[in-house]
Amino acid sequence: MNEGIAIQLHELTKVYRGSTAPAVDKVSLDIPEGRIFGLLGPNGAGKTTTIRILCGLLASTSGEVTIGGFSLRHQLPSIRRIIGVVPQEIALYPSLTARENLTVFGGICGLRGSELKDRIGKWLRVFGLDKSQYQQVGRYSGGMKRRLNLIAGLLHNPKILFLDEPTVGVDVQSKNVIIENLMEINHGGTTIVYTSHYLEEAENLCSHLAIIDKGRIII
Ligand code: ADP
Repeated sequence: MNEGIAIQLHELTKVYRGSTAPAVDKVSLDIPEGRIFGLLGPNGAGKTTTIRILCGLLASTSGEVTIGGFSLRHQLPSIRRIIGVVPQEIALYPSLTARENLTVFGGICGLRGSELKDRIGKWLRVFGLDKSQYQQVGRYSGGMKRRLNLIAGLLHNPKILFLDEPTVGVDVQSKNVIIENLMEINHGGTTIVYTSHYLEEAENLCSHLAIIDKGRIII
């Protein structure tokens, strides 16, 4: 099978201001289309830095990145339209309900009316949050917030979904719901790029893995 490349990194490097050692050091990777790709490594290895650069949230020091055929340096707006981003930190409004939060996020992506309502309803059901959709998110458990955060990154049906440690610090039930649904979303054709420091979880979930340590790909 001739597999397409979703994301290509060529000698991607990031040296934070005031730091001498690079956080990401000449990383070159081909991430195949339609797969679940895991970037695995211990704390401080450079996973978050890499993923933040790929999502256009952080500028690299040098190197080239292509996502969906678009250059990260020159065509970021086109890339933003085809990616979904689920950051490690929870980015939700605590005083709003789950449904209200998703209405805000969907609106930012340009979704409106019955299409937005239907998508919100579907994902809340899929992630087991439909019964608590009218609760204020500030009263949600950590695992429920993670699930909702994930839906917020998915509403616009991205072709490529980036997730930074989506299962860190969540209860077993939420972890299972997240893992099962990521597999399901991938079956629907979405390329998934996910970081983790759990080897076993990554091995079970991912068809492709790279291991990063001190900013370098070691496997
Ligand atoms: P990981 O996600 O694998 O835990 P990070 O990408 O967060 O790793 O960090 C990689 C390295 O970059 C670490 O040494 C970390 O201390 C450093 N680092 C991360 N963010 C910053 C920052 N804003 N300024 C300076 N150094 C940073």
